[in-house]
Amino acid sequence: MTYDDFSPEQQAMIDEIVSLLSPEKRFFVVTGAGMSAESGLPTYRGTGGLYNSGRTEQGLTIEQLLSGGTFRRDPELTWKYLGEIGRACEGKSCNRGHRVLAEMESAFADFCILTQNIDGFHLDAGSRNVIEIHGNLHGLRCDSCGFQKTVAAFSAIEIPPACDQCGGMLRPNVVLFDEMLPTVACERLSRQWQQGFDIVFSIGTSSNFQYIAEPVFRGAAAGCPTIEINPDRTHVSESCSHQFRAPASLVLDSIWQRYRDRQ
Ligand code: NAD
Ligand code: ZN
Repeated sequence: MTYDDFSPEQQAMIDEIVSLLSPEKRFFVVTGAGMSAESGLPTYRGTGGLYNSGRTEQGLTIEQLLSGGTFRRDPELTWKYLGEIGRACEGKSCNRGHRVLAEMESAFADFCILTQNIDGFHLDAGSRNVIEIHGNLHGLRCDSCGFQKTVAAFSAIEIPPACDQCGGMLRPNVVLFDEMLPTVACERLSRQWQQGFDIVFSIGTSSNFQYIAEPVFRGAAAGCPTIEINPDRTHVSESCSHQFRAPASLVLDSIWQRYRDRQ
């Protein structure tokens, strides 16, 4: 799908967004599971969401299963779902949308991605200023002895994984629901906010977390363009100056092509 395949209204919105871009602009880009949907990774909620019906086979919500509390009580249960997510990533890779964002980083004065995704695809695509606020699924650690390792393929390891050093159970370097956000990532986020931004993108996230919705609210309050790309409406839609109801990679690719054609 290219620019020509969008409706006249959508083409007009792409052109309007392109007209907002210029090299001195500072971007703050928030991404969620929808960013990786076109890589073949299912989202939790919204379009194509795995858990739109609310409950998993255990009768718990996905937030309960993937919580720090459940992990402490029944780590095997949480690991069953983490292992499934890990296996779902196998053979998948970053898509055109991730690559467009990586290319954009070198074309503008400042370009920060705040992602909730734990798949590592933004870094794989070549983006450098990425805050992985929920961590990265491929990093495992032992909270007993401090051992760490990286896992490329979850199908190749036993679930739950055992620590190579002390035999205890490893956990992934991700933030489970109800756990604190990593300090280093929070510090980077607050430094980035202090630097300020001119344009906010909110891409493929249901924006359930306050710190994910916040950039849109701050941008809107400051009169910045706030652009949502998501097939569905979300909590932040009303605060967005531009709402693009279409898949992320197609929209980003068209915006980027039109911008470069204009240069
Ligand atoms: P979410 O599942 O709650 O919401 C996904 C959003 O993406 C929905 O609003 C949906 O309409 C939208 N969407 C679906 N297809 C899209 C597309 N092609 N283009 C643009 N948008 C599309 O995800 P979330 O808001 O990121 O929050 C859920 C939590 O789940 C996060 O903590 C995240 O860490 C985790 N998660 C991560 C991954 C991943 O790493 N790829 C996948 C699933 C869930
Ligand atoms: Zn250990």
